[in-house]
Amino acid sequence: MEKITLGIVGGGQLGRMSALAAAQLGIECIIFTPEENSPAETVSKKTIIADYDNETALEEFANRVDVITYEFENIPVDAVKHLKKFKPVYPDENLLNVAQDRISEKSFLNEIGIDTARWAEPKSADDLTSILREWNTKQCILKTARFGYDGKGQARIKKPTDIETTWIEFRGQKIIAEEIVDFECEISVIIARDAEGECVTYGPCLNEHKNHILDKTLLPAPISDDVATKAIHMTEQLAHHINLQGVLALELFVTKDGRILANEIAPRTHNSGHWSIDACITSQFENHVRAVCGLPVLDPQRLSPCTMINLIGKDVESLENYLENPRASVHLYGKDDVRHGRKMGHVTILEIDE
Ligand code: ATP
Ligand code: MG
Repeated sequence: MEKITLGIVGGGQLGRMSALAAAQLGIECIIFTPEENSPAETVSKKTIIADYDNETALEEFANRVDVITYEFENIPVDAVKHLKKFKPVYPDENLLNVAQDRISEKSFLNEIGIDTARWAEPKSADDLTSILREWNTKQCILKTARFGYDGKGQARIKKPTDIETTWIEFRGQKIIAEEIVDFECEISVIIARDAEGECVTYGPCLNEHKNHILDKTLLPAPISDDVATKAIHMTEQLAHHINLQGVLALELFVTKDGRILANEIAPRTHNSGHWSIDACITSQFENHVRAVCGLPVLDPQRLSPCTMINLIGKDVESLENYLENPRASVHLYGKDDVRHGRKMGHVTILEIDE
């Protein structure tokens, strides 16, 4: 195999785990991030620290690598466009354009025949009042269209008087209103698609959230075969329509009446797929690296049922149980500051027989 150098934009844990997977394939990684001492830096050949709008630094980065990917959905599309003048970038920025804005995301999903919760774009508090009247409800979820993550930039409208106060809180931002889905469970499907259009999937994964942050993922998800097949099909449809080269994840709600509604697209590897490092022959990170470097993706071949537990904030200070459990694989992201709500690592517990 010819020697490949992969550039990764973003220095978080997803970049770190991608760089580790790349190293296994003999691929060296160079990271571009504004952050000093990022999780990806310690496991990569070189890191360029500069802002995403620093065109000279972006050019220098591009000139040092063969192909570029990103691990963070909120990098400016202009940075990707600039990088593309020098080297190929996968996935293409059309995926970022769709995924960075909840309104374009939901419009795109609906256009390609993927159902979502009912949604609207209210332009004022009065507008929202009439939308809720039309929906015949007093409740909804308001989300800022851009830059939300881990439940940030979200508010629940429970009664009419919440409308005005929340509108003031979110002032000046583009807002989406969503119907509250009475879901049975939340699932996700992760898909890797290579340059030839071959697809492989992980999941459906069952996801449990705590304080709006992913807490646990269980495999296999305890859902019917019919729901699982449909969820995988929806994700394949999305990957095909976006002409994906790389990995994306589709977060879905399974409703109590058996419908599947798409909630969100993650244009990258996903927290609900971290178990694949230990429970599969080919992890989501390896398949991501393969796809963007022009290598074929491989069927993951999950070897056992498993549970992935996120280590959030202070969780990371009590690892004894996991470190003494031969079925537990501990992954720490090398972050120095333990902060409330910060993803510090994860543990995968494999359910294998003794
Ligand atoms: P993350 O980065 O963790 O994926 P996020 O901030 O991007 O989160 P969403 O995924 O849209 O935001 O929402 C976070 C969680 O809030 C969902 O996983 C779900 O539990 C709940 N939620 C979001 N939208 C709805 C909805 N329309 N109905 C019911 N619950 C919802
Ligand atoms: Mg989400």
